[in-house]
Amino acid sequence: MPLPKESTVLIVGAGPAGLAAALSLIHHGCRDFVIVDAVVEGLNVSRAITVHSATVEALTSINAADGLLSRAIKGKGVRITSRKSQLFEGKFDPLKKYSAHPYTLLLPQNVTELVLVQKLQSLGVRVQRPHRVIGMQQNEKDPRITDVSFEDGQVMRARYIIGADGAHSIIRTIAGIGFSNPEGSKPSNNLLNQMVTADVTFEPEPVGPLTIEGHINSTVFSGNVFMLVPFGNRFNDELTRDGKPITKPIFRIACAMPVKNGESLHAPPKEYIQDLIDKCGPACISSDLSLNPTPVKIDQLIWSGCFKTYPAIADRTFTRLGAAIFLVGDAAHIHSTAGGQGMNLGIRDAIFLSEAVSRHIRASAENPDVDDTILRQIAEARQARSLETLGFTNSVLKIESLTYDTFTWWIPFSLGSFRDAMLRLLGKFDFVQSEVAWGLSGLGRR
Ligand SMILES: Cc1cc2nc3c(=O)[nH]c(=O)nc-3n(C[C@H](O)[C@H](O)[C@H](O)COP(=O)(O)OP(=O)(O)OC[C@H]3O[C@@H](n4cnc5c(N)ncnc54)[C@H](O)[C@@H]3O)c2cc1C
Repeated sequence: MPLPKESTVLIVGAGPAGLAAALSLIHHGCRDFVIVDAVVEGLNVSRAITVHSATVEALTSINAADGLLSRAIKGKGVRITSRKSQLFEGKFDPLKKYSAHPYTLLLPQNVTELVLVQKLQSLGVRVQRPHRVIGMQQNEKDPRITDVSFEDGQVMRARYIIGADGAHSIIRTIAGIGFSNPEGSKPSNNLLNQMVTADVTFEPEPVGPLTIEGHINSTVFSGNVFMLVPFGNRFNDELTRDGKPITKPIFRIACAMPVKNGESLHAPPKEYIQDLIDKCGPACISSDLSLNPTPVKIDQLIWSGCFKTYPAIADRTFTRLGAAIFLVGDAAHIHSTAGGQGMNLGIRDAIFLSEAVSRHIRASAENPDVDDTILRQIAEARQARSLETLGFTNSVLKIESLTYDTFTWWIPFSLGSFRDAMLRLLGKFDFVQSEVAWGLSGLGRR
């Protein structure tokens, strides 16, 4: 389908950040925008599963949270366990002192995107696909306009460009914005930077508290962290592949592991995932009778993937190349998956930035010579949030990555066992549980 020749705003990328930007522009009275994406269909691999309180509040502020609130599981807390017993629970309930949404919404990222796309369609906007941006240059006649070129030869003029085009952002590259880890070079391969993730059903159905909807369960064992999130039957339709109906409850599992232990396959097979569960997962989903009195095995492997994440932040998130150019979401920052913050921060970037863009558009209509103060201020504020979030996720990652390697044979003590003992002890105090919930919620880093 042909694209319009010009638009005030062009949003590049229709992942969660791009979709949130579009919804925020509409809410703030800007309808003169186009949102494009390079691929024919929205994502059907699912990465993020959490939408935290601060993000629900931001979405509520633009009247875009209802769909997620009605579709998602309201997560009550985060449990940290050994293979057989609980070490710690961070409960979200105490957040009600600070937020009308004292929970974390649990839902697969593809469902989050679907809900946001449906909201956009209900407001009369469609994502234009497939249109891949391949170039940008300042317009020869108007120094405040950029000509954006697409793979299929089309060219669109825009005054504002929101780069929501993910980790390998072409907008960032063409704008000449650096992207690196502010803490220095590539992080150690001892950290849990690799995550194998899958959606599975079991036969027979597993039993026990960890298998009931409402919690994120993280098992620390053997230098890995294994996550189990029961989805029940709530997302069976959206997670179905190849038309094969799924009738059993679906479980999202994920295992964070260090790259030094070997790189996993891009789409690990059922046997690999079963082996991972049996080696590192909680007892209740193990097929090993010595660990689990009611052993279970994977029945259906619905989907699997392996992701490596290395933290990086763009040197700046606003520049001019004729048009005002912004980066939001993974184009602007990549965090470790620890604490589930990346998509959340990206959605909030997009909502707040688009409000500022709408204000700037109105200010320019009154005074064509208006300067970029509004735009610079919001870009700096988002950059600060990004650095704070990186600090938070790096701390969680370092704690998660502690191993059970003992110092020497005569000091039979490891940092991993010290962490577990501290978790058991600190978990008894309400204020520690609340602190953990507060950190995850993002309410202190809106
Ligand atoms: C295993 C894993 C688990 C995670 N879990 C969580 C979690 O629980 N909570 C959380 O908050 N975050 C989580 N994240 C992070 C989260 O998935 C990302 O932060 C999020 O997807 C970023 O959204 P985005 O819209 O910025 O980018 P993307 O989702 O990458 O979307 C970018 C879009 O831009 C399009 N595009 C790219 N190039 C072009 C181009 N040249 N022209 C046009 N379109 C283009 C792409 O097709 C794509 O649709 C997780 C990540 C991983 C890997």
